[in-house]
Amino acid sequence: MRITDVKHFAPTVGMRPQTIVKVETDAGISGLGEAGTAGRERAVRGMFDHYREFLIGKDPRRIEDIHQVLYRSQYFEGGTVITAAASAIDIALWDILGQHLNTPIWQLLGGASRHKVTCFADAVAGEGATMPERAADLAAKGWCTVRFSPVMPTEVDPDAPEDVYEPWESVVASSEMLHAVRARVGPRLRMGIDFHHRLSVADAAEFCRLVDDVNLMFLEEPIRSESPDAYASLRAMTDIPFAIGEEFSGIYVFAPFIERGLSNYVRLDVCNVGGFTAARKVAGMAEAHYLEVMPHNPLGPISTAAAVHFCTAIPNFALLEYNWNTRARPPDLFPEGFDIEGDAFPLPEAPGLGVKLNEDALADHPTVFWEAPHLRRRDGSYTNW
Ligand SMILES: [Mg+2]
Repeated sequence: MRITDVKHFAPTVGMRPQTIVKVETDAGISGLGEAGTAGRERAVRGMFDHYREFLIGKDPRRIEDIHQVLYRSQYFEGGTVITAAASAIDIALWDILGQHLNTPIWQLLGGASRHKVTCFADAVAGEGATMPERAADLAAKGWCTVRFSPVMPTEVDPDAPEDVYEPWESVVASSEMLHAVRARVGPRLRMGIDFHHRLSVADAAEFCRLVDDVNLMFLEEPIRSESPDAYASLRAMTDIPFAIGEEFSGIYVFAPFIERGLSNYVRLDVCNVGGFTAARKVAGMAEAHYLEVMPHNPLGPISTAAAVHFCTAIPNFALLEYNWNTRARPPDLFPEGFDIEGDAFPLPEAPGLGVKLNEDALADHPTVFWEAPHLRRRDGSYTNW
C-alpha cells in the first residue's frame, strides 16, 4: 500500500475552522486527521503541503517511521505548527491501518482498558442563569466533574469592554464564583478551573489561597508553560493539583513537567502532541510516575474520535474533556461520528477512526479567518487570552 495524495480542508464549524487532513492511498482507503493548533490554520495547511512532497509513495503502515521523519526532518527542533500537522497525519495513518485491518484503532493500541470513556463537562453547558445553577443542573444530570472558566469582566459588568482582562480582578471574582458553586452543589461534585494561562505566578498563588476551602480537583493552566521552573515556584506555594500540557508539541516538552511532578493531570492533546504515536509515549511516561492522563479535546469530531480511541486503550486515564462549545457534528459534513451518551462515550466499533467527512458539504461550511481575542489589562498592556 502506498500514499497517493495528501489533501487538507478547513471547514468552519461553530466558532472556528477545523484543520483536517486526508491521506489517500492506492488501496482505495483514505484516512482523516485533525490538527490542534487552532488559530494558525493557514500555517498548518502549509505544512501539509510541505509534507505531501515526501509522503507520496510511502507505505502508510510505517507509522512510527513516518512520525520520526515528519518530526525530526526539521533541523530546528519542535514547533507547534509543525507538530500539529504531523499529529493530524499520524491520526490519518492510524485511521488507514484500522480500516485496512478492519478493526477500531483502540484495538491496535493494545485493546480496551475500559468499557466507556467518561468526560468532564464544561460549566457553560449547564442550564440556569447563574453559574451555581448551571453546575447544579449538570450534577443533577449525572455529571461527576465540572470544569469552570475564569470570570471575565463582562460577566461582572455588562458595560465592560470585551477586550479588557485584569487578572487580579478575575482571580477575586472567580474565587467568589467557585465558593458560590460549592455552597450550592455540596461536597461531592468534582470541580476544576482552567485559567487559560492568564495569570502570573503571584496572581495564581493568590487565587490558590482564596480557593483553599473550595476543594478543587485541579487547576488548569494558571500560568504559561514555557518555564517549568515557574511552575515549580508555584508548586511550592499550593497543594492544588495542576492540569497542564494541552499545547505541548512532542514528547520532550512533557518530560520536565512529568518528571518534576508539575503536571498532576497530563493534559495532552492527540492533535498537538504528535498523534497517537507520541501520545501513547507520553502516557507511558506518566504511568511510570503514577500520573493520569486527562486529554484536551476542544476541536471537532475527528479530534474527539482520536481522543476516545486513545482514552479507551491507555491504562492511566482520568477524564476526557467534553467542550460544549465545539460539540457540534453537522451531519451533512460528518455523516458518521461519535455521540456522547450521558457523561461518557461508548466504545467505537467501526474500523479505523470511525468518522467520515462528506467533501460535497465543505462548500456549505466555508473557511473563515479566526484569531483568538487580543486582551488588554486596564492600563492598556497586552495580556493572555
Ligand atoms: Mg485548557
